[in-house]
Amino acid sequence: MTFKKPFSLFVVLLAAVALAGCTSLLPQLPGQPPVETDHGSVRLSVDLSEIVAADIGFDAVRAELAGGGRFLAEELTIAGDTAEAEIYGLAAGPWQAVVSLHDGPVQLAAKSVDIVITKGRTADVALAARAAGGQVSLETADGEPPGQPGAPGEPGEPGEPNEPGQPGDGDDEEPGEPGEPGLPGDGDDDEPGEPGQPGDGDDEDADPAPEPPAVTREVRYIQSGSRTETRTEVYIIRSSEPGPTVMLVGGVHGSERSGWMVAGEVAREWDIDRGTLVVIPEANKDAVRRLSRTGRDGRDLNRAFPRGRAIDRPTDWLLAQRIWDVVLEFQPEALLDLHEGWGLREAGDRFPGGTLSVGQTIIVYPAGDAEDFARHVINVLNTHHNPFYGTAGLTYNFRMIGPPVDGSLARKAGNDLGIPAFIAEPTQGRAGRHQTTLAQRQHWHRVIVEEFLRWYGLIQ
Ligand SMILES: [Zn+2]
Repeated sequence: MTFKKPFSLFVVLLAAVALAGCTSLLPQLPGQPPVETDHGSVRLSVDLSEIVAADIGFDAVRAELAGGGRFLAEELTIAGDTAEAEIYGLAAGPWQAVVSLHDGPVQLAAKSVDIVITKGRTADVALAARAAGGQVSLETADGEPPGQPGAPGEPGEPGEPNEPGQPGDGDDEEPGEPGEPGLPGDGDDDEPGEPGQPGDGDDEDADPAPEPPAVTREVRYIQSGSRTETRTEVYIIRSSEPGPTVMLVGGVHGSERSGWMVAGEVAREWDIDRGTLVVIPEANKDAVRRLSRTGRDGRDLNRAFPRGRAIDRPTDWLLAQRIWDVVLEFQPEALLDLHEGWGLREAGDRFPGGTLSVGQTIIVYPAGDAEDFARHVINVLNTHHNPFYGTAGLTYNFRMIGPPVDGSLARKAGNDLGIPAFIAEPTQGRAGRHQTTLAQRQHWHRVIVEEFLRWYGLIQ
C-alpha cells in the first residue's frame, strides 16, 4: 500500500487535461492502445468518526484503483473525522478500488469496492471505519447485511528492498547494513505474542487479581522541520505506581524494521506496573517511511549525537536536539535503542572496509549495572530464544560488545548522563548464507525489551 508518486502524478496530469478539455494531449503509452477518452471521476470518502471516538490511532487512508489495464494510487486527505479524495480522468467502465486505513506501517483495515465509471459523471464511494472489539474494519457507509463478510484486506505487500549500507565508511561500529530482500509487510504484525508477554491482549482474559495500577499514555510530537508528515511521536506511558523512568527508542535507522515495529508495539500496547516508560518508536520518521537507513536528507541519525556538549551548533541536527531534549526532560535511568545488525559477530564477519559486524550483539555503554544487565539478557536470549543453535557450526548466540559508536544516542546518553545505555542488534543474516526472518528479529527485540523493563523495575 505504498503511495506511488508516479501514478498519482499521472492522475494529476489526467485531471489537468480533463479539466482543460484538451484530449489530444492525453499521453499515449508505448505499446498500449490509445488512452480512453470517455472518462469520469470518483469521489472517495471515509467516515472516521467512530475510530476517532474510540481513540484508535491512524495516520493515513489510501486508495488503489485498478481498471482498464490501469492502476492508480492516491492518498486521501484527512480533515477532521473524514478522509476524502476525488480522482479525475478515469476511463469509463468497471474499476475496483481498495481503500485502506493505516497506522504507520500497520494496515488496520482494507475494503475492496467495485465501481462503475460513467463518462462525465462522478461515482461516489462512501465508507465508514468501524471499531468493534478492538478491531477496525471498513464498511460501506450505509451498512451491509449482517453476516456478509467484508472483502478481505489486501495481503501486505512485500517491503521494498533496503538501500545498501555504506560498508567501509570508517565507523568502528554500526556499519551500513546491506539490504535484505523484501519480506511481507503486514503479515508479521499479526503474529501471536509469546505467552506471558506484556501487551499482547492478555488483559482481556485477566484472572481476578488485585487492583492493577492504572496506566496512562500521552503522545507528544517533536517537530524537527516544517513538514508535519515527518513529525516524530514520543509516547509517555505512566503507571499510577511510582517507580523509575527508562527510555526506549526505535527507528533511528528505518531499514532496521524490527526495531521500530517492536518499539511501536510497546508504545501503543504494552503496560507497565510502575514508573514511566518514554518511547520514541520511529525516531527518524522519514527513514522509517522510506525503509532505508536515512531519510531523504541522507543524514545518519546515529552519528548526530555529539557527546560532551549541547546539541546547539548550526551544523547540528535539529531532530537530534529535539530527541536529546526529551532525554534531558525525563532523565531516564537507562536507555535502550533497537537496531538490527548484519552478519555474525561470533563468526568475525567483516564488511568490505574491514569493519567488524555487530550482528547478534548487545552494544553496551558500561555505566552502572549495564554489563550485568547485558550478561543477563544475553543469557536469557541464548538459553531460551535461539532456534539456530549449531547452524553451520555457529551458534547465533548474542554477545556483549561496546562501547556504542561515537555520535550514537546510546553513546551520548551513557557518556553525558552516566546511565546504562544499550543498542540491541539482532542480525538480519549473513550475506548469501543465512537470513533471519523479520518475525524472529521482532521476537528477539521483544525479549530484550521485556527483560530491560523487568531489570529496571517497570514490570514484575
Ligand atoms: Zn542501526
